[in-house]
Amino acid sequence: MGDERVKEEALRMLGVFQVLPRLVVFDLDYTLWPFYCECRSKREMPRLYPDAKGILYALKDKGIDVAIASRSPTADIAKTFLEKLDIKSMFVAQEIFSSWTHKTEHFQRIHRRTGVPFKSMVFFDDEDRNIEAVSNMGVTSIHVERGVNLEALRLGLKTFAQNSLPPGTNITK
Ligand SMILES: [Mg+2]
Repeated sequence: MGDERVKEEALRMLGVFQVLPRLVVFDLDYTLWPFYCECRSKREMPRLYPDAKGILYALKDKGIDVAIASRSPTADIAKTFLEKLDIKSMFVAQEIFSSWTHKTEHFQRIHRRTGVPFKSMVFFDDEDRNIEAVSNMGVTSIHVERGVNLEALRLGLKTFAQNSLPPGTNITK
């Protein structure tokens, strides 16, 4: 699927849910792109996972902000790659720094910068320890296996909607 097809499908999914997150936060390495950027050179031309760009565009179209939470030790390479991919200006917050905490500090900063409560955020990451730590803060956190894709988006939206309901209620979508 090309970016446009993915965007259309993502927008269709976003239309299905009555309750949507205000902010969607993405990890970088093995979530938005299939490599560790610390192992790459700034001179290279990076590529994203196939569904990533379409999903970002759909979220923006729907008025949902996007942000980055990455523990990469090479923020300079990460930011160069985001510029080369022409998506850097899309993110309302870009927290890229190595840290011993599993991104709780990243999310504190994102919250301070955006004012969005943790319970109104969805987070995608490929590492279980980050998912666990951030989930404990009240953020709907989704583990991705092979990068963010439409299936992960659907799971994120569904889980978010479920988490937003009073305890004990069930939805099927
Ligand atoms: Mg990662």
